[in-house]
Amino acid sequence: MHPAFEGMREPYFKEEFFYAWQNGKTGYPLIDACMRSLHQNGWITFRMRAMLVSFASYHLWLDWRKTAPFLAQLFTDYEPGIHYSQFQMQSGVTGINAIRMYNPIKQSQDHDPQGKFIRRYLPELGKVPDEFIHEPWLMQDSALNYPPPIVDHTIAVKHARAEIAKFSKQEGFIQQTKEVKEKLSSRRKKKSPKKGKKPDQLSFDI
Ligand SMILES: Cc1cc2nc3c(=O)[nH]c(=O)nc-3n(C[C@H](O)[C@H](O)[C@H](O)COP(=O)(O)OP(=O)(O)OC[C@H]3O[C@@H](n4cnc5c(N)ncnc54)[C@H](O)[C@@H]3O)c2cc1C
Repeated sequence: MHPAFEGMREPYFKEEFFYAWQNGKTGYPLIDACMRSLHQNGWITFRMRAMLVSFASYHLWLDWRKTAPFLAQLFTDYEPGIHYSQFQMQSGVTGINAIRMYNPIKQSQDHDPQGKFIRRYLPELGKVPDEFIHEPWLMQDSALNYPPPIVDHTIAVKHARAEIAKFSKQEGFIQQTKEVKEKLSSRRKKKSPKKGKKPDQLSFDI
């Protein structure tokens, strides 16, 4: 963790946001389907793990020290050596990794276009037509037993970018970044990905 990010999220922790994220009730179908699938199966792909953490960190502004232990309890393959470094990277507090804020609607359209995965884990959206499965709130069907989006995606991402920029402008930030890099970042030369199909886990074209 880059010391400049201490105190960035902690004072703003919202218990109701944490509860909705933990229980797959954020109103964003793919986020909720992933969390409920995790409760049932104890495993999920790298990209969906990164998306769940990105959403909790940037959209809900939840501190990683609250969210990391919760997913650790759900991950069958919980490995502290991987888990915590990934959490700090995906929540943007290392100062040495690119900031990636996943768009939960685009991820949903890209990775579950017909909503098969969503409908399997969110039976309450079983009858929602395909064109609304990624944004059920657009149906404005008050009878839908599913919460509206807990935060507005665009507003939340804008706020997160502004806060991170503000904290990155603190005095000594660059020197501290050098120290984090010196201490922790990989010394290996990045292999340029082979032409053609980009390996999924290494690229973040979200
Ligand atoms: C927020 C977050 C938390 C994570 N927490 C964990 C965790 O607690 N335990 C864990 O094993 N992985 C963790 N990962 C890394 C990765 O998601 C899992 O290793 C992978 O999805 C496990 O599936 P698999 O066994 O099918 O992996 P495969 O893709 O088949 O890879 C085989 C093995 O390689 C290792 N591996 C794969 N990806 C990574 C990676 N990014 N970093 C380090 N080792 C990797 C794992 O041991 C994995 O079992 C996390 C990723 C994120 C984004």
